[in-house]
Amino acid sequence: MYNLSLPTTTSALAYGTAASTIRNATRRAPYTAAAPIVQALCNNFDQLGANLTFHQADGARFNVGGLAAGAMAELYDRQFSKLRGTAAIRSGIKNAAPNELCPYCGEGRVSELDHYLPKSLFAGTTVHPANLVPACHDCNFVKKAYKPGPSTPAVLHPYFDTAFTTPWLSASVEESSLNRPVIRFAVDPLGLDPHLAARLNAHLTVFDLRRRFSVWAAQSLTNFEDCLKADIGSSMSLNDAQRHLAFTALQQSGGRVNSWEGAAHKAMRASNWYLTEYLDLS
Ligand SMILES: [Zn+2]
Repeated sequence: MYNLSLPTTTSALAYGTAASTIRNATRRAPYTAAAPIVQALCNNFDQLGANLTFHQADGARFNVGGLAAGAMAELYDRQFSKLRGTAAIRSGIKNAAPNELCPYCGEGRVSELDHYLPKSLFAGTTVHPANLVPACHDCNFVKKAYKPGPSTPAVLHPYFDTAFTTPWLSASVEESSLNRPVIRFAVDPLGLDPHLAARLNAHLTVFDLRRRFSVWAAQSLTNFEDCLKADIGSSMSLNDAQRHLAFTALQQSGGRVNSWEGAAHKAMRASNWYLTEYLDLS
């Protein structure tokens, strides 16, 4: 999970370009007429983002007056997401993710654009670049049309949130019913504003990250066991193992404060049961 800079493409350019790809003048006219309304709604969105108040967004207020219901979704599906005229805008947003890593999970490969506020409920920001987040298929798929509201905290927005850079992801090694280690992930609420803690928990829940991180971390456990069985690791002492895990935590987090790799290896290093009982290190 990490943050990204806001796309440089303005909402006016994205909307204007998408509308200009409509060849039929009669079909295009209402979109052109609605441009000031769309602009105002995108400005509203930017304000919600700047204040981190997406839970106050009201879908009904994002309807575009003068356009038929479904017209904005049609603009996205038939024009913006497909045609060559908007390809540079789409790829500019998608390619902003470093190493093609999905900012929501920090692990999957970016393959699509997610509507942060779903297009089925917030018509006005359907082609607004600040509402389009490069995402992996798994994140986009499990998020579906999740809508922030009074009882559904907003997930982190990679363009606006700063909580990516303060540490809050924690992990612990637990013993499963099969006496195998399993790594569980949670939000460490220490020092966090309760509203932010609720949003972070929602982020983990909406993107199914507790389960996904745990599955990925299972591979880290297997890798470390294999490493201890290999020639180079067979003489590892408890001290060596702790040093190795601390180094791996640092190396694999790649500078991201809340990476699952970092949290998982820190948890492995900190677990007495795992190191001295399960792995029998001394
Ligand atoms: Zn993802």
